[in-house]
Amino acid sequence: MHEMGIALEIHRVCREAVAGRGPGRIEKVRVAVGELSAIEPDLLRFAWEAVTRETTDEGAALEIEWHRTEQVCPSCGPVPDRAPGTWLRLCPSCGGPLELRGGTELEVLDLVFAAEDDPPGPGGDEPGEESA
Ligand SMILES: [Zn+2]
Repeated sequence: MHEMGIALEIHRVCREAVAGRGPGRIEKVRVAVGELSAIEPDLLRFAWEAVTRETTDEGAALEIEWHRTEQVCPSCGPVPDRAPGTWLRLCPSCGGPLELRGGTELEVLDLVFAAEDDPPGPGGDEPGEESA
């Protein structure tokens, strides 16, 4: 499942982006994923959860913006759907080869970072290893 590697990479990129902002946690990340990137959004969400688990960013939301591929015939213009039952990318009107536009996106669009402004209050939750 290569989504795990992708999720790791997304997390790395996000952590790099907030490196200069002091302590805090990433609350939400928005990524663009193209249809042709061979990524299963559900698997990516699952991988993201696994990757952020037990890190500062545990529970951070991953918002996936899905980008479809547009098929364009040089003569007829955009083609919403290929002829059913064909593996060939051919124009249903003139039979010419279709060009593909977009759908290969894989990038971090933006993220929400919550800086740790408040010093932790006295007593209460001391980070420790309570559970085994
Ligand atoms: Zn055509």
